[in-house]
Amino acid sequence: MTRADSAIRVRGLTKRYGDHQAVAGVDLDVEVGEIFSLLGPNGAGKTTCVEILEGYRHRDGGEVEVLGVDPATADAHWKARIGIVLQSTKDFAELTPTEALSTFAAYYPSPRPIDEVLELVGLTDKRKTRGDQLSGGQRRRLDVGLGILGNPELLFLDEPTTGFDPEARRQFWGLIESLSDLGTTILLTTHYLDEAERLADRVGVIADGRVVAVDDPAMLGGRGAAAATVSWRGPNGRERISTDAPTRVVRELADTFGGEIPELAVSRPTLEDVYLQMIGAAT
Ligand code: ATP
Repeated sequence: MTRADSAIRVRGLTKRYGDHQAVAGVDLDVEVGEIFSLLGPNGAGKTTCVEILEGYRHRDGGEVEVLGVDPATADAHWKARIGIVLQSTKDFAELTPTEALSTFAAYYPSPRPIDEVLELVGLTDKRKTRGDQLSGGQRRRLDVGLGILGNPELLFLDEPTTGFDPEARRQFWGLIESLSDLGTTILLTTHYLDEAERLADRVGVIADGRVVAVDDPAMLGGRGAAAATVSWRGPNGRERISTDAPTRVVRELADTFGGEIPELAVSRPTLEDVYLQMIGAAT
């Protein structure tokens, strides 16, 4: 990867709070156009890293470039190129989505048209509803609307779907995918592994202030090449075996049963399985 392809480049990042080393030498590369998800247990250092990248927090050491600029010395022009959706929802009790977006549009040199933002985040029908009458999910959509209002090249999303019902989460994932299709680079922090698996081109796992793995979610921790488990219902109950050749096992079982294998399932370790193993080994 050349520097021109890199939206985020971090080398040896460190940050200490008192005598607690919250970030202990993080290296990270996020490519332009990529959805990159940061995973890690509570207190691992994700928010600290992300806030340093956003220019909200000072670092102790290391090199950081976000869109080619050091966030510690970045100007308003750089700030207009990034969008930020924080963990907590902004509270605009008395403003409608149209009013909230119009108010903040004034801060950007070339904001997206308000109607386009409302459409993208699925709030067109609610554009005239006061903030205190929106559901939690709708308020979160407005947060994202505010994050993408300035037409950012890079969007930071911190736990965007916490508290969403399953349908709202699916819709929200669609929104993130449309933004990605429009060319926005996205750094997503989440505790939902299905969310990371569905959305992320690559995931980075942080534990104890260190990056312990970076990979395609389908390959993380050797997932892609891990042994498969074949399970079925035999005469004496549920049977399962772990194998590197599941096709052969299934063929043999099919011969044994003379056709359909009762309750056949073939599975490989889930992202959650490998993640929990990594976190367990690292902490
Ligand atoms: P979560 O998943 O819970 O959001 P995180 O991975 O984002 O966690 P951070 O918020 O970066 O973790 O915190 C990393 C560590 O630094 C934690 O041990 C936390 O208690 C500590 N920490 C964070 N902010 C401060 C602060 N302002 N002052 C002192 N310690 C802090």
